[in-house]
Amino acid sequence: MADSIWTCSQEVVMGTTTEEHIDFQTLSSLHSDVHSFDTLALHAGAIADPTTGALLTPIYQTTTYRQEAVGKDKGFTYSRSANPTVSALERRLAALEGAEHCTCYATGLAATTVLCLALLKSGDHVVASQAVYGGTVRLLDKILFPFGVTSEFVDTADEEELRRALAAKPTRFVFIETPANPTLKLTDIQLTARIAHDAGALLVVDNTLLTPALQRPFDLNADVVLHSTTKFIEGHNATIGGALITRDQTLHDQFSFTRNAIGSIQSPFPAWLTLQGVKTVGLRMAQHSANALAIARFLESHPRVTRLLYPGLESFPQFELARKQQSSGGALIAFEVEGGVAAGIELMNSVQLCALAENLGSAETLITHPASMTHADVPPKQREAAGITDGLVRLSVGLEDPLDIISDLSRALNQRKVA
Ligand code: PLP
Repeated sequence: MADSIWTCSQEVVMGTTTEEHIDFQTLSSLHSDVHSFDTLALHAGAIADPTTGALLTPIYQTTTYRQEAVGKDKGFTYSRSANPTVSALERRLAALEGAEHCTCYATGLAATTVLCLALLKSGDHVVASQAVYGGTVRLLDKILFPFGVTSEFVDTADEEELRRALAAKPTRFVFIETPANPTLKLTDIQLTARIAHDAGALLVVDNTLLTPALQRPFDLNADVVLHSTTKFIEGHNATIGGALITRDQTLHDQFSFTRNAIGSIQSPFPAWLTLQGVKTVGLRMAQHSANALAIARFLESHPRVTRLLYPGLESFPQFELARKQQSSGGALIAFEVEGGVAAGIELMNSVQLCALAENLGSAETLITHPASMTHADVPPKQREAAGITDGLVRLSVGLEDPLDIISDLSRALNQRKVA
């Protein structure tokens, strides 16, 4: 499936699909069965301004909407429930994931919060991947546990362990992140969906690290796809946002109801920025992957790099699974350097072009120390079990010329202050 995205995109680039074939009157009903991924990224869900014809969906910066009569509105009543700019983004993200429904949120964690509040009640149980974003662990362990929700973090790449966890306790949903942040461990989405469904659980996939440009969880039977749109979807380090996408009307209604009840919808301006950023997600993800592959090859051959994980390299332990369910390796690389924690920290403090920062998925290359930054709230034992060692360095490869990144890393690695 992922391959066909690139084949279709190629047709557009090569001019075999021309503008005349696109019905601009019905852009908001563009469908993933008919149009290629890159076309959907530009046009799906857009609404031209009915008064001026402005091509870009306007920023509807309004709290409320004049109603024609009591009980007669145009589908919008108050911007905590819905807003036209946010709705345009929701239509586009749903189309890109090949689904019907999407709700957008102020942050990625707000999306995870709504997922949990909509689907869980006291006494319910969640099974999650051992290596997931630290904020997801904190939400489940620190916020939801006191309300009676239990979670078990297991190696979802291990079929037996997953089956054991699901047999041990009735489970509402299995939550996976693949590749996982920051170890890049993969979980087989199709297999996990089968095992979860057999046990009466839903499968939720955090698709933040690859986006639908590189991985299509609904084609592999996922029930819900979650995004921190903060990352590759918006792609420019300009916004914070999240999304929950599903093919199921009932789940969508539960998410919409909960979002309105707790007040976590995205604001129109970040939604508008995300609508612009996502237009190039296919192009960006292809370039992020190509750059990351070049940098991973450089790091793999460097004598000071002792451990390197990149799903696009043949040396990656789950390379075959990566080839099966991803259309390329993605932008993230995890590695350790000779000299352990001190050397890793020294490297992160020495780079100049790579920015030491908490985020991933932007046009700029970012370097992060997960143990002290993104995953600091995950208990050390849990970090260790998930393979998030104290010396692990995470690189989110951007869109700079990869040779410039390589020379920045090379200079920092060759300083060799720490033996
Ligand atoms: N999911 C993943 C994989 C993440 O990396 C993050 C944040 O880093 C989130 C969810 C949470 O998103 P946000 O920071 O937009 O709240």
